[in-house]
Amino acid sequence: MVINTNVTTPSDAKILVLNCGSSSIKYRLYRMPAGEVLASGSVERIGAGNSQASQLAHGQELTVWRPVSDHKAGMTLVIDMLTNIEKGAIADLSEIDACGHRVVHGGESCTGSVLIDSRLEAVIEENFDLAPLHNPPNLTGIRAAGELFGDIPQVACFDTAFHQSIPEKAYLYGLPYELYEEYRVRRYGFHGTSHRYVARRTASILNRHKNDVNLITCHLGNGCSIAAINDGKSIDTSMGMTPLEGVMMGTRTGDLDPEIGFFLTRKGFAPAEVSRIFNNKSGLLGISGASNDVRDLEEMAAAGHRRAELALEIFAYRIRKYIGSYLTILPSVDAIVFTGGIGQNGGQMRARIIADLGHLGIDLDQVINITGPAERIISSPESKIKIFVIPTNEEVAIARDTYKIGIENRIPELTN
Ligand code: ADP
Repeated sequence: MVINTNVTTPSDAKILVLNCGSSSIKYRLYRMPAGEVLASGSVERIGAGNSQASQLAHGQELTVWRPVSDHKAGMTLVIDMLTNIEKGAIADLSEIDACGHRVVHGGESCTGSVLIDSRLEAVIEENFDLAPLHNPPNLTGIRAAGELFGDIPQVACFDTAFHQSIPEKAYLYGLPYELYEEYRVRRYGFHGTSHRYVARRTASILNRHKNDVNLITCHLGNGCSIAAINDGKSIDTSMGMTPLEGVMMGTRTGDLDPEIGFFLTRKGFAPAEVSRIFNNKSGLLGISGASNDVRDLEEMAAAGHRRAELALEIFAYRIRKYIGSYLTILPSVDAIVFTGGIGQNGGQMRARIIADLGHLGIDLDQVINITGPAERIISSPESKIKIFVIPTNEEVAIARDTYKIGIENRIPELTN
């Protein structure tokens, strides 16, 4: 791709942010640099014969049922929805100035968002074995967009990139070093775009430069991860080579003795079944035997369901231990930040996690914790370490990177 570096920066570039999963495409069209959302939507059940697409643009809802055989057909449907005469957001495809793609795994070579070219496509492909469920559909989406949108800049934003600043002592496992050299077995971490977004937002609320904050960020959604951020850079995170490691999650185990896997195979479980148990049947769901949703479990626990209460207790306990360990590896901590579906909305859960930490200078305001605007400080004025709730916005972070790299044509490193 040839980029004309003499162009003046358009003040109303339209950026399409795409998140291509194995059977879905989620998208959001932004006007940048203002960050205004012009349309958002999704195409679901790609390849299943009964696909459904829905979109919201200018307050108008549009729903379409149409067989969508593959991602290219899905992307064509996205374009049809965006350019729909009555309920669309743009008159013509040529109004889109750049596309930003969420890509899960950038391996060790991608330390920030990058302009996509054939070399970068090869890097995404090289990392298929590290993210077999995510990188292949991510790349399929990139190629489909490349074919349909023509020669506009396309930018990849990686979930792993923000954590590439983690030092060797934190990312290496206690395994033979050759396994790292030969198979790249190491901790990568995920949710990087979210941790970076809330860290930058917290720095801005604190009136500090983005590289002048030490934070513990807790992304608690269906998947959960905690990050230790020193001078604006990730220095450790709870998820590992895969998103299974770390705190306990909705259906994932989090940290566990790896021998348990071998023990279960000796008991007759097939390796694929063990993997399914660890990833899909454990965590809040596995312990409660009832639900992976914190809201359901809180209701059940209040009604006396013992295992629902136990699941919530274990969930909070594990997060608390990670926060404790990150307090010891950071030179100081300005704030603990909660984000993600549970982190943003789960006041009861935040109170469980942060209960009785006054001896560490961490004190929650019990009232503001439960009610207030979506973005707020929830620590008491006496708390030495502030506590924030910051709604995450990975899409706008991708739109910003895409605008900077694809439109302003800055060097990739500037986005980190
Ligand atoms: P994803 O990781 O798929 O993006 P989200 O970040 O949207 O998921 O988080 C989804 C989770 O948020 C749900 O499983 C639910 O447990 C939790 N959640 C949503 N609202 C609340 C609430 N009011 N209280 C507690 N948990 C909530």
